Amino acid sequence: MPEAANETGVLIDGKAFAAGLRDRIRHQVARLHEAHGLTPGLAVVLVGEDPASQVYVRSKARQTREAGMTSFEHRLDAGATEEELLGLVRRLNEDSRVNGILVQLPLPEQIRGDAVIEAIDPAKDVDGLHPRNAGLLSNGGPAMVPCTPLGCLMLLKDRLGPLKGARALVLGRSNIVGKPMAQLLLAEHCTVSIAHSRTRDLAEECRRAEILIAAVGRPRLVQGDWVRPGAAVIDVGVNRIDAGNGKTRLVGDVDFEEAKKRAGAITPVPGGVGPMTIACLLLNTLSATCRQKGIPAAEFAPG
Ligand code: NAP
Repeated sequence: MPEAANETGVLIDGKAFAAGLRDRIRHQVARLHEAHGLTPGLAVVLVGEDPASQVYVRSKARQTREAGMTSFEHRLDAGATEEELLGLVRRLNEDSRVNGILVQLPLPEQIRGDAVIEAIDPAKDVDGLHPRNAGLLSNGGPAMVPCTPLGCLMLLKDRLGPLKGARALVLGRSNIVGKPMAQLLLAEHCTVSIAHSRTRDLAEECRRAEILIAAVGRPRLVQGDWVRPGAAVIDVGVNRIDAGNGKTRLVGDVDFEEAKKRAGAITPVPGGVGPMTIACLLLNTLSATCRQKGIPAAEFAPG
């Protein structure tokens, strides 16, 4: 595990890592096109006008095109019915130009998220949320892995090398971050604990962790002295808080200023995990395309 280092050495620059990964993906997409005449296609579906979701969707579409893939954007209005959305998902399942489907969450309350996720062809489920992919991940099979935990794992392995034997705590147990993160760390032979809102003495649990993943959505819940000296801290949280002066700003689930004094490595918010999520979406779309065409994904892995 890393020793506490100087401040610059402590930072994990997810933005720079994601930019490098996107470059390597673009290169592999070009190779795939040259060798097989294939262009991966990613369809993103947005229901309603949620401003944050609109920003994410625009950013996903732009980065998809920059990677040399085809971006399909579908917008339904906030009053769309579940049947309309299911119909669209079924059409995308059948569309051979579409290799990956992502339905932007959250959905309006008249639409059951589970029903929509289950309707997506698991081979095109680049968000990794279909129960089949969740099951494969837990059984150690060839799953589509949710993008955010996949990005966290890449940052950790890049900084720490093999994670075998490390004591890891995942704070949060959502299907999209906490649970798949714990599965990925288990597959890397970490000793994994999962904490949540009913955990007793969260601070003590955190202090034991050599790897601490915070994915709770509570601004600066994890205080500096909860961090074990030298620990690697990955902050998934994205929380908008009042910055005074009538403005807002983003902070993570970790008190970054205090935690960085003790951590061996730590991701900032913004500029840590966030950029990795979209890069991993592109990665999943590339590997889904290969698998759907019977091409070993390893031949076009960006490394
Ligand atoms: P979520 O579905 O709301 O899950 C939050 C988890 O945190 C739950 O398991 C909850 O416990 C736990 N929790 C809440 N308050 C807690 C507390 N005071 N003490 C201990 N545990 C507590 O959230 P999510 O979708 O996993 O997202 C988590 C955060 O990551 C959010 O800030 C979200 O915006 C961010 N996020 C970022 C990215 C990215 O790309 N950077 C991607 C996805 C999510 P219970 O299960 O007991 O309720």
